[in-house]
Amino acid sequence: MSRALIIGAGGVAGVVIHKCCQNSEVFTDICIASRTKSKCDKFKEELSGKTGTNITTAQVNADNVPELVALMKEYKPDICINVALPYQDLHIMDACLECKVDYLDTANYEPEDTAKFEYKWQWAYRERFEKAGITAILGSGFDPGVTGVFCAYAQKHYFDEINYIDILDCNGGDHGYPFATNFNPEINIREVSAKGSYIEDGKWVETEPMEIKRVYNFDQVGEKDMYLLHHEELESLALNIKGIKRIRFFMTFGQSYLTHLKCLENVGMTSIEPIMYEGKEIVPLQFLKAVLPDPASLGPRTKGKTNIGCIFRGKKDGKDKTYYVYNVCDHQECYKEVGSQAISYTTGVPAMIGAMMVLTGKWKKPGVYNVEEFDPDPFMEALNKWGLPWTENFNPVLVD
Ligand code: NDP
Repeated sequence: MSRALIIGAGGVAGVVIHKCCQNSEVFTDICIASRTKSKCDKFKEELSGKTGTNITTAQVNADNVPELVALMKEYKPDICINVALPYQDLHIMDACLECKVDYLDTANYEPEDTAKFEYKWQWAYRERFEKAGITAILGSGFDPGVTGVFCAYAQKHYFDEINYIDILDCNGGDHGYPFATNFNPEINIREVSAKGSYIEDGKWVETEPMEIKRVYNFDQVGEKDMYLLHHEELESLALNIKGIKRIRFFMTFGQSYLTHLKCLENVGMTSIEPIMYEGKEIVPLQFLKAVLPDPASLGPRTKGKTNIGCIFRGKKDGKDKTYYVYNVCDHQECYKEVGSQAISYTTGVPAMIGAMMVLTGKWKKPGVYNVEEFDPDPFMEALNKWGLPWTENFNPVLVD
């Protein structure tokens, strides 16, 4: 019997909620709490009578720690699953500390005024979580999340040391719009318009945005252009995986997406610097978000598949070894099952699984951890069971 407080009621939250409700043996009670309560109530209505999980809803401003504390004291959750936005991470962690509630999220904290993806703010909570006897799991989505579990699995079962990791995130889906983002547009555009970077020989190497391009032929999707991006899991994996010489992250983008993005950038629409407009301060990127399609509305329109995984090169018993492990997920299948496209699905399923790992004691350890610091086996098994099966290839085409 366990109680989960789910914060946020957007695209990813929708999947977490559906998956917790499919898994009502573990998640006997959930409370969906977000800024807009009507969105929480909508999920409750949709699932009522279809699940053994008891669902309650609440309104909360997750930037307000006393409000969060009051909600946690009233609901008494065993875990808080944060699927609001990265800006809320530290506030929710503060409330969890005060109420001694385990914590899990899918994206690392970033301050609203600087697009920087670093773990330092959340890692600074380690000692306080240890002392409070509570567990925080950082980044339990797909990437970060499953990619970290894939790394831990490769390290545990196939390598003595891993020297090179390439994380490849391919979205072969088509929603039919000339330009839309698959998850929160503000977070997505901040991520892709930032400089690229990768880690080589223990140091960050910075690139211009989209400077490094490769073409890769993805299983069940086909050939796609992919670009090197900075991504948060590089920072933790470079510390937690033995023998790393280089780690990179690539994401696929279509030409139409990139042309629109360049144009929006050139006219200043992706800026996070506030400007005055008709006597009111507005942030151009937030205004852009308001005019773009809501990612949640892409579900019924998106066709095609995602393919996300990691290619490893390293040594086993003194010999060179390569290994590729990936998941392929079909947008339309996800929509049929939970009413969301595959980007939300591939993030929400691992969030539910991560929470289950904590609630069932498999990943319960006081402190603040990234997913690759735990035993990957029960998580890998759960991926197969809960909708994200993985495929292995021991002779993959490498990325140059
Ligand atoms: P959405 O914008 O669809 O949903 C965010 C939700 O958070 C909304 O319901 C929003 O409320 C709520 N929210 C925002 N601010 C507050 C606040 N102050 N208090 C309470 N609720 C608030 O985002 P997504 O579902 O697409 O993404 C959710 C998270 O998942 C993000 O952090 C994103 O970075 C992460 N993510 C991680 C991935 C991974 O693989 N690791 C991949 C994709 C996303 P309202 O409805 O009122 O706007």
